[in-house]
Amino acid sequence: MRLTFLGTGTSFGVPQIGCDCAVCRSEDPRDKRTRVGAVVEQGGERLLLDTPPELRLQLIATGIHHVDAVVYTHDHADHTHGIDDIRAISIRRSGGIPIYGPAETIAALREKFTYVFDETMRPLPGTSKPEAAGHVLSPGVPARIGGFTVIPVEVPHGRSRVFGYRIGPLAYVTAELPADIQPAYDGLTVEIPDA
Ligand SMILES: [Zn+2]
Ligand SMILES: [Zn+2]
Repeated sequence: MRLTFLGTGTSFGVPQIGCDCAVCRSEDPRDKRTRVGAVVEQGGERLLLDTPPELRLQLIATGIHHVDAVVYTHDHADHTHGIDDIRAISIRRSGGIPIYGPAETIAALREKFTYVFDETMRPLPGTSKPEAAGHVLSPGVPARIGGFTVIPVEVPHGRSRVFGYRIGPLAYVTAELPADIQPAYDGLTVEIPDA
């Protein structure tokens, strides 16, 4: 299994617009960070974890030209507002890209980005739009997504709860990991907390 980090920045991205702190003024390339997203790959199949605002730039930079499904952690803007960039992938496949996530996230995406999910909204001839089909995941219930078995684990994040994911030897959690759910992550070979 291969994990590619697309971005590891804060919700603002680093540097932050208008900030003159030492990190934002740093010349170190490690202080240039786009918003959080990742790709998990196994046996030629790829899952995209979240669609951050810089998705196009991130996929170009990593040479990743197709993904088989998108799995969302939560619906905050820094994790979702690059959803339009899946258009470049969905136009090269028949049917929409399957999109998975918590019920509230799928509902929020359908509301905010209706054109992505509504098959009755057709683009004008010669134009295109992103196409996706939403699927709700339940906490603790393993889901088969392509060749992957994905187990959502609910964790607190600010005022809401978000999904972390256990995918084979990998756990991907974009929030604080409470001690009481640590057992869900036993036997990990890779742990990426608080990305
Ligand atoms: Zn700063
Ligand atoms: Zn968030």
